[in-house]
Amino acid sequence: MKRYSAFALAREALRYHSGWSRVWRSPELKKSYDVVIVGAGGHGLATAYYLAKNHGITNVAVIEKGWLGGGNTGRNTTIIRSNYLQNESAAIYEKARSLYEGLSVDLNYNIMFSPRGVIMLAQTEHELRGYHRIAHANAVQGVSTEMLTPEQVKEKVPIIELSGPRYPVLGGLWQARGGTARHDAVAWGYARAASRLGVDIIQQTEVTGITQSGGQVTGVQTTRGEVACKKLGIVVAGHSGVLAEMAGFRLPIESVSLQALVSEPIKPCIDVVVMANTVHGYLSQSDKGELVIGGGADGYNNYSQRGSFHHVEETVRALIETFPIISRLKQLRQWGGIVDMTGDRSPIIGKTPLDGCFINCGWGTGGFKSIPGSGWSLAATMASGEPDALAAPFGLERFAEGRFIDESVAAGVAH
Ligand SMILES: Cc1cc2nc3c(=O)[nH]c(=O)nc-3n(C[C@H](O)[C@H](O)[C@H](O)COP(=O)(O)OP(=O)(O)OC[C@H]3O[C@@H](n4cnc5c(N)ncnc54)[C@H](O)[C@@H]3O)c2cc1C
Repeated sequence: MKRYSAFALAREALRYHSGWSRVWRSPELKKSYDVVIVGAGGHGLATAYYLAKNHGITNVAVIEKGWLGGGNTGRNTTIIRSNYLQNESAAIYEKARSLYEGLSVDLNYNIMFSPRGVIMLAQTEHELRGYHRIAHANAVQGVSTEMLTPEQVKEKVPIIELSGPRYPVLGGLWQARGGTARHDAVAWGYARAASRLGVDIIQQTEVTGITQSGGQVTGVQTTRGEVACKKLGIVVAGHSGVLAEMAGFRLPIESVSLQALVSEPIKPCIDVVVMANTVHGYLSQSDKGELVIGGGADGYNNYSQRGSFHHVEETVRALIETFPIISRLKQLRQWGGIVDMTGDRSPIIGKTPLDGCFINCGWGTGGFKSIPGSGWSLAATMASGEPDALAAPFGLERFAEGRFIDESVAAGVAH
C-alpha cells in the first residue's frame, strides 16, 4: 500500500490518478486468528490498529456485519472534547483528544481534525455552577478549559441570542482544543493503517455465535463459517447486549436510538461547536456548509437507525430560541444510530466473565471523541490480558461493586 504524500499527489495528478491502490485489502476470512474483533466501527478498528502497531499482534480479524464505519461511527455529530468531571473520564478522553491532534500524521490519512473550540452553554444558574465545578476539576486534571462570560460567548458566536425568553445565556464552558473530525475519515484511516499492518478486515459478515470450552473463548460462528481465536474483542456499541448474550453473560446496557439532522448548506456562520444542554440541542457547521444539529435519544429501548419527526420538532424548537436563524433554514436529512447507554453514562472496557473475551461498550451518546484513547487502551488490555491504567476504572465489575463513575451531569446531552 503506497503512502500518501505531496509527491504522490503530484505524481498521480500527472498520470490522471490511475496509480492509486485500494485503500484497504478485502481478504478471505481465515479459519483461525490470534485475535478476533467483532465490529468495524471506530473503536474496533482503532483496537486492531493499536494491537498491531503498539503490541506487534497482527494475526487479527475485524469482523463487521455491514460496512466498516456504517454504525454510530458514521452517524455521529463528530464533537471531540475532554472536559469531563471525573478524573477517570478526563484521563481517557484527554488521551483520546491528544491522540486526535496527531492522528492524520500517524495514520497517513487526513481525518480532518478541526480543533475549532467547543462551548457548553450555561443557561440556568444550576448549570453555571455545574460548569464552574467542571472547570475547576479540569484545572486539577490538566485538561485546559475556561469559563466564558455571556459577552465572550457572543464574541465567539455572533449568531447567538443571549437574552432568550426562557433560557438566557449566563456563560459557557470553553475548551479551545476541542472540536470535530470527519467521522468517516477516522474509520477509513484506521482501517487503512490496520490493513497495512496485516489486519484482515472482513465486511458483510455477521457474528452469529460465540464458541467456548471450559469457560474460555475458542472462536466465533459467522455467516461465513466458524473462526477460531485465542482472544475475542466485542466492540459493537448498540448490539453489545446481543453479543454478550451469545457469550453467556448480561450487561447493564440499554440500547436506544439517538438522532441528528443537518440543514441545507449555507455560507459560513459559526466556526465553533456550541452545545446547549439545558434545551437539549447542539450545533456546528460542516465544511460543506450544513448546520449539523444533534438531538435527543428515544425515551424507550429500540434498535432503530431512523429519525422521527417529533425529535426534529423538539430539537429545533428548543434551539430556535438561542439561534433564531435556524427558523429560516430547510432540513436536508435526519438519521438515527443505536447507542449503548450505561446507568452512570460511562463506558465499560475490560475483561468479561468469559476468559479471553474482552468488551468495549457503553460509550452511549459520546464515544466518537474517545475512539483513539479507547482503542489504545483496549489493545493494551487485550495484549497483556489485564486492564491497563486507563481501562482499569471502567471494568464491568464496578456495577456489582456500586463504584460508579457518574458522568450523567458532565455529559449533559453527552456528545
Ligand atoms: C446521532 C448521533 C450523534 C452522536 N454524536 C456524537 C458526538 O458528537 N461526539 C461523540 O463523541 N460521540 C457521538 N455519538 C456517539 C458515537 O457515535 C458512538 O459512541 C461511537 O461511534 C461508537 O463507536 P463504535 O465503534 O463503538 O460503534 P459503531 O460505530 O456503531 O460500530 C459497531 C459496529 O458493530 C457492528 N456489529 C454489530 N453487531 C455485529 C455482529 N453480530 N457481527 C458483526 N458486526 C456487528 C455494527 O454493524 C457496527 O458497524 C453520537 C451517536 C449518534 C447516533
